[in-house]
Amino acid sequence: MVTEAIHLHTRDHRVVDGEADLVRRGRGNRLARALVIAGAGILGAAVFVLVPIVHLFTTWLLPLLGLGLAVWVYRIAVVAKEIRGTCPDCGAEMRVKGGVLEDPTWIRCPNCSLPLRLEVGETPQPAQGR
Ligand SMILES: [Zn+2]
Repeated sequence: MVTEAIHLHTRDHRVVDGEADLVRRGRGNRLARALVIAGAGILGAAVFVLVPIVHLFTTWLLPLLGLGLAVWVYRIAVVAKEIRGTCPDCGAEMRVKGGVLEDPTWIRCPNCSLPLRLEVGETPQPAQGR
């Protein structure tokens, strides 16, 4: 887990800096997790082959669910444990529980519920021509 600088954008283009504890999953790690899940789906189907009636659904449903879940897990490259920053609207110090970072990821200020778009990385360049 690493602490990285983040930027929180409001809908009206205000930006504040913050930081987040991030877990970055490498390609090998994601592939291993996906293979375990897909394998569990196939194994589950194999076990339920012996159960009458239930096997009519589980033999195709469990591998399909395992495959879908494996694809979803493989796509998770960055997970945020905690996001910290100052709300640009109410000024409250925020400590928000993170989650899977997607593009875009939105969080809400726990104090005033202002939606904020989270951006991981370097300081954004100010808009030109204003
Ligand atoms: Zn707020």
